[in-house]
Amino acid sequence: MKIATYRMGGERRVGVIDDNKQTVSPFEIPAADAAHGVLALIGRADLPRLLAAMPLREADIEAPIVRPRRNIFCVGKNYHDHAKEFASSGFDSSAANGVVPKHPIIFSKVPECVVAHGAPIYIDGAVSEAVDYEAELGVIIGKGGRGIKPENALDHVWGYTIINDVTARDLQGRYSQWLIGKSQDTFCPMGPWAVTRDEIDLSDTKIQCWINGELRQNANTRDLIFDIPTIIATISAGVTLIPGDIIASGTPSGVGIGFKPPKYVVAGDVARIEIAGIGMLENEFREIRS
Ligand code: MG
Repeated sequence: MKIATYRMGGERRVGVIDDNKQTVSPFEIPAADAAHGVLALIGRADLPRLLAAMPLREADIEAPIVRPRRNIFCVGKNYHDHAKEFASSGFDSSAANGVVPKHPIIFSKVPECVVAHGAPIYIDGAVSEAVDYEAELGVIIGKGGRGIKPENALDHVWGYTIINDVTARDLQGRYSQWLIGKSQDTFCPMGPWAVTRDEIDLSDTKIQCWINGELRQNANTRDLIFDIPTIIATISAGVTLIPGDIIASGTPSGVGIGFKPPKYVVAGDVARIEIAGIGMLENEFREIRS
């Protein structure tokens, strides 16, 4: 099931997108619940009743989880080819951990950098001259827990979405912690909606990214170095996961830093990410001055 957060008639709603992506049917939930987007459904035993379908084109799509409850967990260097391209880029402050990390690299992005499909991503030339894109499968936790074993980990997943882990490479390289370079305002496009976990086969799901129509990233989730169960087990070993937590699972090769010379994005560039079974997340880069 594809579940979107959107605005219609001046109100935020949560609803189901039909298979042809023509209509959206809102759940019958109080406005105070719908204000939390897809979070309103996570942890419920049953889904609420659906109201009449409306044309999707009349919906103003928002990020499925408009404002995560806390930082988004992210995994660095989690595809073999990307680990190689990043290690040789000169910006890898984690290089001491090896080209292919022995343990997952976990960092985070602040919740306030989340934006919707279609929203601009701002490049502030006074802050960074090396903004890059990263197509990623986002995992949404449904059932919290601590000490989750890999064999049970997928029981804790509510669903999936698409994330663009936008990164200021110069800031990522300057500070050994990646948070600033990863958390710039608007640096976490998410959407266009979430899908329930039954929609995705983690052993065979295509993930692709185009910049201005040029295919840059073209991979499959089966190529992850650390799979989703391993990542969930790693984070939850001592850090209690809570319902609604989001994990960006890492990006494949083909990011701007992987080219010689690097292909950083500039104002006017459009990033389009597709993950099979979810949909398409598209955002344009624009210039902003601080
Ligand atoms: Mg990333």
